[in-house]
Amino acid sequence: MIDIQAIRNDFPILQTTVYGKPLVYLDNAATTQKPACVTEQIVRAYSTMNANIHRGVHYLSQQATAAHENARQTVQHFLHAKFQHEIIFTRGTTEAINLVAFSFGEAFCRQGDEIVISGMEHHSNLVPWQMLAERKGLTLKIVPFDDKGELQLETFEAALSEKTRIVALAHVSNVLGTVNPVKEIIEVAHRRNVPVLIDGAQAVPHIPVDVQTLDADFYVFSSHKIYGPTGIGVLYGKESWLNNLPPYQGGGEMIATVSFEKTVYNELPFKFEAGTPDYIGSTALAAALNYVGSIGLEDIAAYERELLAYATEQFATIPDIRLFGTSERKSGVISFLVGNIHPYDMGTLLDRQGIAVRTGHHCAEPLMNLLGVDGTVRASFAFYNTMEEIDRLIAGIKKAVAMFV
Ligand code: PMP
Repeated sequence: MIDIQAIRNDFPILQTTVYGKPLVYLDNAATTQKPACVTEQIVRAYSTMNANIHRGVHYLSQQATAAHENARQTVQHFLHAKFQHEIIFTRGTTEAINLVAFSFGEAFCRQGDEIVISGMEHHSNLVPWQMLAERKGLTLKIVPFDDKGELQLETFEAALSEKTRIVALAHVSNVLGTVNPVKEIIEVAHRRNVPVLIDGAQAVPHIPVDVQTLDADFYVFSSHKIYGPTGIGVLYGKESWLNNLPPYQGGGEMIATVSFEKTVYNELPFKFEAGTPDYIGSTALAAALNYVGSIGLEDIAAYERELLAYATEQFATIPDIRLFGTSERKSGVISFLVGNIHPYDMGTLLDRQGIAVRTGHHCAEPLMNLLGVDGTVRASFAFYNTMEEIDRLIAGIKKAVAMFV
């Protein structure tokens, strides 16, 4: 059971007032707020162990190196990866996908090959593949979803061919909230020896993830969406794949030996971590993961399901409401429009009532085109949200609607 009041006390920003009203923060799919233990870790790390890591012989450098590598181990355990060196620190989900699209593309893709993604991808899991397709003369195949916002296995399987080199898919859609059947999809792809990258940006804060059970080849996420700092994220890759991919960037850290004639690359994970790593951010991410672990993702998921069920019930009381994404397998995201009210107007009127939601295309323009809208309003929940906040959201929407009639 979640002690919601104790949790809210861990997040100082939740005490903020906006235009004189208590903040209702429902933009968690864009970024989450930070518990004090995360911000304290950033201050502690800079105050007690700041020194550039790896190769340093002095005390502080060794402290910082140990903390950074411990953080890698925390991520390994969090994702249940087999090896610590399968965890690569990146700037976030976006950089992790760009890394795979570039390095995998260099090693394994030739003209005429195909890449399969879905119609509900964030631009981060679309544009890097498009860039690769243009560079190498590949075809990008898009798997459609149905009226509920679900991907059907048969439709997905029909998109695979002899030419498919890789599948890249969101675990959870940031617009529709759909939790995709990634384990089954990976199984289908593996039957044809096609590797799968899973974009876990919207999944890891809400669902326990085990990359070995999923048998994912690559799994990526961003720290800032799971209560950690901005500017750092994770690429998990199976050792066998990572060892066969060329580096993404060149520079310090990623080398074993360098001469003017030739460079020998470092071993995993350093081969993919050129330059000074974010060794402060990694320890703060570890603090965030430990915090989430201390509450328990199973309990978090159960509570967020209650929030979503209550919100869905309450949304049904709003006349002229349109919900986008109505799968039974859904995470705490509600994308909606009311009548002809422009999402931007709705967002602004809610903001004036202290309620933070996101409006627009949510970095998924092609998905908006498929839905036949320019944008939506999106409320997205975290485990520090309450039923009372949902009541305020619903009342806020009704008040905004009343201003339009
Ligand atoms: N994929 C999904 C599903 C997302 O929701 C987001 C963030 N909105 C991203 C990728 C990109 O994450 P980041 O901007 O942290 O790299």
